[in-house]
Amino acid sequence: MINFEYIRTSTAKAAVDAKTKNKAAQFIAGGTNLVDLMKKGVTAPQRLIDINALPLKEITNDSRGVSIGALVPNSVAAENKLVMEKHPLLSMALNAGASAQLRNMATVGGNIMQRTRCPYFYDITMPCNKRQPQSGCGAMDGYNRMHAIFGASDKCIAVHPSDMCVALAALNATVIVNTTKGEKKIAFVDFHRLPGDTPELDNNLAAGELITAVHIPANHFNKSYYLKVRDRLSYAFALVSVAVALEVNDGVIKSASIAMGGVAHKAWRLTEVEKYLIGKGTTANVFKDAAEIGLKDAKTYQHNAYKVKLGKSAIVEALTKATS
Ligand SMILES: Cc1cc2nc3c(=O)[nH]c(=O)nc-3n(C[C@H](O)[C@H](O)[C@H](O)COP(=O)(O)OP(=O)(O)OC[C@H]3O[C@@H](n4cnc5c(N)ncnc54)[C@H](O)[C@@H]3O)c2cc1C
Repeated sequence: MINFEYIRTSTAKAAVDAKTKNKAAQFIAGGTNLVDLMKKGVTAPQRLIDINALPLKEITNDSRGVSIGALVPNSVAAENKLVMEKHPLLSMALNAGASAQLRNMATVGGNIMQRTRCPYFYDITMPCNKRQPQSGCGAMDGYNRMHAIFGASDKCIAVHPSDMCVALAALNATVIVNTTKGEKKIAFVDFHRLPGDTPELDNNLAAGELITAVHIPANHFNKSYYLKVRDRLSYAFALVSVAVALEVNDGVIKSASIAMGGVAHKAWRLTEVEKYLIGKGTTANVFKDAAEIGLKDAKTYQHNAYKVKLGKSAIVEALTKATS
């Protein structure tokens, strides 16, 4: 058995101080990812800092947008009236994740920080540069059906598994972070990293920093849809997912924001597709061209080439569902 210490904190400052002092400590929120990782020996924090008593469970709204506290459970955020009215895309993405029981435990902060589901990361007998830097990548020449088609490196081809994060990327959210020097804000699209030479780093959160909330700015999107393609209808991670948010007036697209999940080390914004769609009508041909643009730079591995065709179909389907 691997022993660890456990402490509870009741303020963000105490939590950040405790983690800054002990680099081998980790925050625990719902525990739905961290405890699994500890049981499998993927991670062994010397101290767990329980943040569940922190006052980070509010969902608020003002003229600038909606803020969701880091400790709001995924199920509460998905069913919140403000979120459903103002950002139905986020509600759909949250409800597509995991299972009802898991969504009751999983928090917004923990969802952002969850680790990849690459089987080589979870299997401590296999090489994995993310789990153990410089040990190699088992997936590269192994079984890579679930893996990245965008932004991968020769060190890591893992994908970020979250559904919620795909919607937050499309909605131009900001992550609010508490540090020893006060509060800072990180644009959601810059929060997670590509693997490069340091795949052990999932994101740009520095040691000791605590996510306190996500902020979603007010927008003019009037059509949206989250499409998740998976092996089973529930309790399965995305093979490919698409979050679409559009502003459509008189059948013409005025603004567009699209992100894909299951394809990269982070939610993958399709900026070229967004540019292409502006000024276009909501027709099948436009959506087909958009899908071609979206997948044109995909790089596949032995078992995941199917994601290109699937990704194109998913883009067409998500755009069609959003506008129908
Ligand atoms: C069987 C199963 C199926 C799943 N299916 C899906 C799915 O389909 N889609 C999907 O999106 N997710 C899925 N998940 C993942 C689930 O959404 C995550 O496990 C959950 O969101 C993590 O939240 P948590 O609060 O439990 O985090 P924890 O497990 O408590 O923590 C996870 C990580 O986040 C860090 N952390 C937590 N809160 C903060 C904070 N405020 N600031 C900084 N760091 C923090 C912790 O230190 C830890 O490293 C699934 C999980 C399981 C077990």
